[in-house]
Amino acid sequence: MTDNLLLIKCKEYLKTLCVDISERCVGSNGNRQATYFFEKELSLRDWETEMVEFEAIDWVENGATLKSDEENFNVLVSPYSLGFRGEGELISASTIEELSKIKAKNKIIFLFGEITREQLMPKNFVFYNPEEHQKIISILENSGAKAIVSATGRNAALAGGVYPFPLIEDGDFDIPSVYMTEEEGLKLIPKIGKIVFLDSLSKRIPGIGYNVIGKKGNNNSPKIVVTAHIDAKKGTPGAIDNATGVIVLLVLSDLLKDYNGNKLIEIVAFNGEDYYAVPGQMNYISTNKNNFNKILLNINIDGAGYKEGLSAFSLFNLPDEILQPTKKVINQYSGITEGIQWPQGDHSIFLQFGVPAIAVSSKWFIDNISDQDITHTPKDNIGIVDCNKIVEISQALNTLIRSI
Ligand SMILES: [Zn+2]
Repeated sequence: MTDNLLLIKCKEYLKTLCVDISERCVGSNGNRQATYFFEKELSLRDWETEMVEFEAIDWVENGATLKSDEENFNVLVSPYSLGFRGEGELISASTIEELSKIKAKNKIIFLFGEITREQLMPKNFVFYNPEEHQKIISILENSGAKAIVSATGRNAALAGGVYPFPLIEDGDFDIPSVYMTEEEGLKLIPKIGKIVFLDSLSKRIPGIGYNVIGKKGNNNSPKIVVTAHIDAKKGTPGAIDNATGVIVLLVLSDLLKDYNGNKLIEIVAFNGEDYYAVPGQMNYISTNKNNFNKILLNINIDGAGYKEGLSAFSLFNLPDEILQPTKKVINQYSGITEGIQWPQGDHSIFLQFGVPAIAVSSKWFIDNISDQDITHTPKDNIGIVDCNKIVEISQALNTLIRSI
């Protein structure tokens, strides 16, 4: 295909993934549609494909109200929370120490200040889970509290661009919860010790999702695994995070359709990077845990194709025979530069198993990771994508893979 045809294809894919399919959060219909679409495109180019199924709940909510003495407070339902309707005395904690001392049985816990600075890692999220988070979760679970209200600030590094961010986003945590802005939290402080009424309309829906894996080459050859997560956060079209990554995989599958080199090329649409329990990634790890030593290299694309700035290849532990061709490719393509290392992405799975990796993203995003307000919000839409960059990245990866 000519560059121009590739560009047209990219635009079509972007529309399919971000406009025609309304959402791609794990467990949703849109997410399954996106994976079927991906599988079909790979099959059409003679990749041997596999849809790996796993269970994943979806979630619907219809808002929440918090009241005390006829005064209303603006609250949002925590993603994947159970619903709640009832009243209780409001009891507060701002530190772990305070939380461990309060008697919260049958009360509604109000968390604000220091204890809500960071989004709590989901209970079963194994890749990164600070002891403090686990401690907070365990105290809450043993508290006998009826519900939790939290007031949270801004923390783009951990919660994307979302404000306020949900303190809890965990379908495995069963105390109903809502969250509010810091400003709203200040207004709630006078209600501590009083009875509050909470009505939160929220429901979990059992469902399934898939990882999609495409293979080309001899099964016994050393592997190059190219990955991008296909899921998006609820409430965002997920254009840069990470439709563009998926589109790179699709274009690459086309550029490599006649590949007959001596490597096994595996293209994986991971499902769950932006979902509390990362089910697709967990599934991949449990299936492959004894085979990571056969992987020469992971290339993970996440956050690529932003309209401003260059594309960035961040290099992790590349051995010389991969480093040299990678540097050459970076020099050869004028829109690509070497980027700083960043840990938040599926390449970290491979690094954990000692596999060298290249993370492909937009320089602007990795440089502004802690203060941008686009990721995980409606602003992450097709208007901020430059499809020329997707084409260039795909061509660069094609060149690179063929030269390893
Ligand atoms: Zn992402």
